Amino acid sequence: MKVLFVTSEIAPWVKTGGLGDVAGALPQALRQAGCDVRVLVPRYPAMRAAFPGAAHLAHLPSMGGQLPAADLYVARTDTGMTLLLLDCPPLFDRPGNPYLGPEGGDWLDNHLRFGLLARVAARLAANATPATALDWRPDILHCHDWQTALAPYYLRFYEKGGAASVLTIHNLAFQGIFPPQVLDELGLLASDWHIDGVEYYGHLSFLKAGLRHADLLTTVSPTYAREIQTEAEGMGLQGLLKSRAAQLTGILNGIDTTVWNPAGDSHLAAAYDRDHLAAKAANKAALQRQFGLPERADIPLFAVVSRLTSQKGLDLVAAAGDRLAALPAQLVVLGTGDKTLETAFSELAERHPLEIAVRIGFDEALAHRIEAGADIFLMPSRFEPCGLNQMYSLAYGTPPLVRATGGLADTVMNYSVANLNNGSANGFVFADATPAALLHTIRRAVRVWQDPERWRQLQQNAMAGDYSWRTPAARYRDLYAALLK
Ligand code: ADP
Repeated sequence: MKVLFVTSEIAPWVKTGGLGDVAGALPQALRQAGCDVRVLVPRYPAMRAAFPGAAHLAHLPSMGGQLPAADLYVARTDTGMTLLLLDCPPLFDRPGNPYLGPEGGDWLDNHLRFGLLARVAARLAANATPATALDWRPDILHCHDWQTALAPYYLRFYEKGGAASVLTIHNLAFQGIFPPQVLDELGLLASDWHIDGVEYYGHLSFLKAGLRHADLLTTVSPTYAREIQTEAEGMGLQGLLKSRAAQLTGILNGIDTTVWNPAGDSHLAAAYDRDHLAAKAANKAALQRQFGLPERADIPLFAVVSRLTSQKGLDLVAAAGDRLAALPAQLVVLGTGDKTLETAFSELAERHPLEIAVRIGFDEALAHRIEAGADIFLMPSRFEPCGLNQMYSLAYGTPPLVRATGGLADTVMNYSVANLNNGSANGFVFADATPAALLHTIRRAVRVWQDPERWRQLQQNAMAGDYSWRTPAARYRDLYAALLK
């Protein structure tokens, strides 16, 4: 089975969140599950730098509208994955974040940047395109999020078919909505401007076009698949999603266990595993030192690694901060995002220099050290399609404390004596998105933490889970196969 994966980010080279992690790991796992996968991704500066020897494969003349001509390069990763790099310097040769300019706002031509990516993906997946162009033609075109969601549309209406298309929703909150003027620029026709086309309440929506026209839809957890069909969580698209419920499947993400494994993680002060948890203490001390907090083994260390947005419920953590510090407990925060949240955490750290410390920024190595060094990981998300950090935390024996939503509800089992003893409890779960409910659960977690025996059991339960991509990759492979039948 030949699968063309098309994505706007791919770890470890270009990553702003979970999508990058998934695109970095799932194709690899699919190969191990027997698929022949190639990944199409823009040739950002980071990809240029990582693959200086990429070979020129094809020139792609403009495909309509203001979509510029482009070139395709091919490179191979050190694990043997084939990358197709979409080269178009005027659109992609820019520093920094793939979506945002230096001022922090969206690039003004994002519709062209990702419209081109989608258009090229559709062309490579089309029946009419001679397989010789790539020496390969995919059976499946697997798209991810709004950035590539126009591809199934282009494939159906502008290429007259080809590969079967799959669109995975990693986060319904991002929909790729643009003013009507971009229709022409994307090489689309006035006849596309209707509710079964690309129109969405007077705007053009990349995501909506894909949700309507991809052969199959998936999202990244079973609970989120249900939630997005409701008014509360559907972000306005619940009606469309409900109408496609028969083609919508939730498959939990995995984690890259070669990167996230406390027994072989070069970022850590000390390696440990499920049977050698004592070494985790050295990571806690190192983390406290790195954050300039007193090295106290006698109080619990809570942690956050996150985009700082209201999605992640971090305003609840900020609101509970003073009382958390008074428990006493410590809190370290690594994140970047909303200025109000950045300020709220910085002010908390100023008020409680012995208990709370904050790093504003994106730091992969520090994220690893936090997962290993913290006692309890906080993830009180308002909504969470899947969430990766709670799985990293589980794998690192750092029980997560989460709100019961989306993938958090599917991966974290609440502590109770019965759940501990039957091996299922692996963290703490609460329901109400209020500082009081969060704080109540934090207190509950601290009481369990104070009992070393129960805590060790909880950690071991967490670390016993299989969070690898093996099972999810097999599920994707089976879905592809069913689609081709
Ligand atoms: P989302 O994709 O919604 O941001 P996920 O939990 O699915 O949330 O994935 C987030 C990924 O980004 C994780 O790999 C996490 O470690 C990483 N991450 C988020 N913020 C930071 C940060 N400030 N520094 C380092 N890694 C971060």
